[in-house]
Amino acid sequence: MNTTRPLLEVKGLKKYFPITGGLFGQTTAKVYAVDGVSFDIQRGETLSLVGESGCGKSTVGKSLLRLYDVTDGEVYLDGQRIDNMPASKLRPIRQRMQVVFQDPFSSLNPRMKIRDILGEPLTNFGLVKNNADLREKVSLLMDKVQLPRDAIDRFPHEFSGGQRQRIGIARALAPGADLIICDEAVSALDVSVKAQIINLLVDLQDELGLALLFISHDLATVEHLTHRVAVMYLGKIVELTDRRTLFSKPHHPYTKALLSAVPVPDPTAPRNRVILTGDVPSPINPPSGCRFHTRCPLVHDRCRTEEPQLRTVGEGHTSACHLTHAPGELVMG
Ligand code: SF4
Repeated sequence: MNTTRPLLEVKGLKKYFPITGGLFGQTTAKVYAVDGVSFDIQRGETLSLVGESGCGKSTVGKSLLRLYDVTDGEVYLDGQRIDNMPASKLRPIRQRMQVVFQDPFSSLNPRMKIRDILGEPLTNFGLVKNNADLREKVSLLMDKVQLPRDAIDRFPHEFSGGQRQRIGIARALAPGADLIICDEAVSALDVSVKAQIINLLVDLQDELGLALLFISHDLATVEHLTHRVAVMYLGKIVELTDRRTLFSKPHHPYTKALLSAVPVPDPTAPRNRVILTGDVPSPINPPSGCRFHTRCPLVHDRCRTEEPQLRTVGEGHTSACHLTHAPGELVMG
């Protein structure tokens, strides 16, 4: 196994959704949901994809999972290209790449007991020899997510929201996945339960060497579990760097605005609030030039016509803003 190659590589990923209309159902417009996104994830690493609702982050996750066919770009899992792989060959890929969704209640079949919910992927991927083996493997999965073994015959509605999310995580672990996409996986949970699930994910990552793509609208949520963060705005990554740099020296004006909205322990302490006005523009007709220019407090003429490219502003740190002057420095153009 090549240990230097990223587990997941995403190159120039695009996902456009056609809008059809007219008498013959022709395409009348497109939703530019994801428009040229590139990143990679190493084994055992957590990369968070963060941005406001509608920025395309969940579409990235669903495209990687092949729940959507991609419009353009390339996706590699462990060096193997998967974006154009025929559906009939995706089975081993699905075994290695699993997902945990936001709403554990709607993603768990209410008529299935936990033994069946966790047993199904084990059976489907041929990972059990007999019924006794199945029961033991389901019990081990329940141990891993700290659910009591005697809950094996209960139904999802008999669990709390946090426990249901533990079941969702156990189901993702069942096939032996090495990459888990967590799509707003803790967003519906209250603060203390959210912290417990985040701690569980960190422990599982340490134990199993899992790679996580953690999709969230909330920067505060990712701060304690992520290694790197990619900030998305209207279908594009605008900044990507390690956690420490992002939270201490953010570069992009949009990242600064998101960070300034993160609650702090002492709300009376002086801080540089950046209030964003207006909503995220429509991805059907994104703004010209820099897509953030309609809301950016530092907008200038060039921003309205010329699209900024992601450029290196520090070690392992890229940002897409015309005000990039030298590594780590923002200047007015
Ligand atoms: Fe703001 Fe211009 Fe930078 Fe875009 S390119 S983030 S509009 S300053």
